[in-house]
Amino acid sequence: MATFGTLSDRLTDTFRNLRKKGQLSPADVDATVREIRRALLDADVALSVVKDFAATVRERALGDEVNRALNPAQQVVQIVNEELVAILGGQQRRLQFAKTAPTVIMLAGLQGSGKTTFAGKLAKQLEKEGHTPLLVAADLQRPNAVGQLQVVAERAGAAVYAPEPGNGVGDPVRVARDGVEHARRQQHDVVIIDTAGRLGVDAELMKQASDIRRVTDPDEVLFVIDAMIGQDAVNTAKAFQEGVDFTGVVLSKLDGDARGGAALSVASVTGRPIIYASTGEGLDDLEAFHPDRMASRILD
Ligand code: GDP
Repeated sequence: MATFGTLSDRLTDTFRNLRKKGQLSPADVDATVREIRRALLDADVALSVVKDFAATVRERALGDEVNRALNPAQQVVQIVNEELVAILGGQQRRLQFAKTAPTVIMLAGLQGSGKTTFAGKLAKQLEKEGHTPLLVAADLQRPNAVGQLQVVAERAGAAVYAPEPGNGVGDPVRVARDGVEHARRQQHDVVIIDTAGRLGVDAELMKQASDIRRVTDPDEVLFVIDAMIGQDAVNTAKAFQEGVDFTGVVLSKLDGDARGGAALSVASVTGRPIIYASTGEGLDDLEAFHPDRMASRILD
């Protein structure tokens, strides 16, 4: 995964140096923690996350579990691994389905974050699992957004509900609500609602998203975030958390050459789990997110 290339290389170097030592002095631990801290900050991980991470690793690395270990350096690497898994959310969290169909999944995020692409990917994956998803085009902001969702849906082989001229055009909240009704009537067991995203966070956008949330009562609200946005990730995620209170996160563009900070900050800062990683423009480029596997990729 290109995203974590530099961070991964730097941590590998740090651990290589550490492994050359036998017993670790407190000074060795401090030097190592300082290097990890710098590598994370350079990868655009949020300062608050880095501070907590470094403090926890330091405290554990100076404690008994390392003193007693046969291989202290290896024990420190293990601690870093465990703490990375923790900031990435700990346990894997799967998509939650409603007890009574349809399951409603609402997408939110900035324009260009990858929502529409993700809608298609998710629809395709759900179809493979035997579901009958309906995509709802409630992004009426961008002139071509509805058309784009239709294209993606066709590639995914999924049905779309889009506003017809004269029937709620311009009112995304109504389209979202009617879309869920349509799914119920047509017996689609999952509804995926694509919503509008502006270039920046704005109050009107949040109001619209929160109105859609209110009228559709979704089982999941997934916040799609572009791994490339670096330090802005934290503020954007916090704004969406306050505005729509999402239930889970989708990291998109993890195939790019971003430094990975967004990916490493967002679960920890918002307390919401990352559920999917989107890793390309193709509809099959979607992975369930596993905190432990992601940590291993970074540390390998
Ligand atoms: P939206 O405005 O949030 O609906 O974003 P789009 O789904 O239209 O995506 C914006 C751009 O990012 C498009 O050119 C997509 O092809 C591209 N894109 C989306 N997801 C990914 C991904 O995981 N990796 C890469 N490399 N590109 C992506």
